[in-house]
Amino acid sequence: MDILNGKKVKQSFAKDFFEKHPEFDSNEHLLLDHRPAHRWFYLLKYGADHDVYNFQEVIQGKSGAEVIIRDELFHMMSTYDYLGLIGHPEIEAAAIDAIYKYGTGTGGVRLLTGTNELHCELETEISRFKGVESTMVLSSGYMANLAAIAGLFSKNDLVITDENIHRSIADSIKVAGVPQEDFRHNDPASLKKLLEKYSSVKRKLIIVEGVYSMDGDICPLPEIVELKEIFNSFLLVDEAHSLGVLGKTGRGVNEYFGIDADRIDIFTGSLSKAIPANGGFVCAKDEVIMYLKHGGAPYMFSAALSPANTAAALKSLEIIESERWRLEKLWTNTGQMKNGLCRSGVDTGSSQSPVIPLICGDYKKAVKLSAELFKRKFLANSVIYPAVPINKARLRLCCTASQSPDVIEQFLAAIDEIYPQL
Ligand code: PMP
Repeated sequence: MDILNGKKVKQSFAKDFFEKHPEFDSNEHLLLDHRPAHRWFYLLKYGADHDVYNFQEVIQGKSGAEVIIRDELFHMMSTYDYLGLIGHPEIEAAAIDAIYKYGTGTGGVRLLTGTNELHCELETEISRFKGVESTMVLSSGYMANLAAIAGLFSKNDLVITDENIHRSIADSIKVAGVPQEDFRHNDPASLKKLLEKYSSVKRKLIIVEGVYSMDGDICPLPEIVELKEIFNSFLLVDEAHSLGVLGKTGRGVNEYFGIDADRIDIFTGSLSKAIPANGGFVCAKDEVIMYLKHGGAPYMFSAALSPANTAAALKSLEIIESERWRLEKLWTNTGQMKNGLCRSGVDTGSSQSPVIPLICGDYKKAVKLSAELFKRKFLANSVIYPAVPINKARLRLCCTASQSPDVIEQFLAAIDEIYPQL
């Protein structure tokens, strides 16, 4: 094993576990006598035995286009840092200044003692950036969905979701106890049928995402907004992967389609992707945010967003506006990657964004492809069930503004070499 700064560098998360527990069998543990646990230990053992477990690789230092893993330089091909803003000196300086001025923690939840000036400034800035009346910020995008959905809807209402919605939305619906129906992915006709069927339900919430996190396709917002208006329902759009990425100025999916933000009832999003911090937000009308700041559980029962993250997000919005070249570069790189993958004849599904799946089908193929790329010093994560359907295992590639054209070409050459032999 390598030694780094006196600490052992793991060979792989799974290998290390089975080295420490060679006889481990999840069937012998009552606490782990649970189907998902058995499944995961089966996959972990497969990954360790075949040397294809590359989840949770430990990054030594900052993330970015290049990262150090196991003391070696890797090219990052799967980060959410779409605009390449991790490590931006002005964002780092803002976070450091915030720590000196406001400390490392807030000492409370937003409703009680946790709100500081930075939170108020960030909420004002997100509202301005998105063109909405009001915003609340929380400690993650997951919490933002939970606050909005469970804060506003319950058992007498109905949510109608795209079938590919993110786990944070699915979990929030369970917590809310609100009945749920799914429509076929990105299919307004299927949504329409459900809206007709449930026309007598008074409060209906449609939920979609700007960019879908696993397939990289964009929701057909114009048709969805039209249906929402015809059927007198509400619409929540999760902008986790579209903020900073879609639209001429990165304002998100409504800018991409030229739709006024006030035709969408609720936007949620994350501050951990194009914005390189941690945190989440909910945007809506003044009165809705006023209520959620009292009735949204994570706002009251989970600690406020930390000062460093709040300041980093605030500065990032400024940089997104002043360094427009990042958005252009992101899309140039996306074009280069997508064209190259197309030439290679691999299946990239329905991607329309910097999130590009390389669909392999069987999980063994996906983890092998990821492991072979890892040997060639590319970190490209595989994604398997339950994050995607069982027969749709894939590499989830993400383009960013910080990748270089040369590295993208090298990556495409590696795919050409490995993919046919899977
Ligand atoms: N919504 C979507 C669509 C996401 O992809 C994610 C995170 N991957 C979230 C919400 C949660 O965001 P966060 O990581 O800030 O909790």
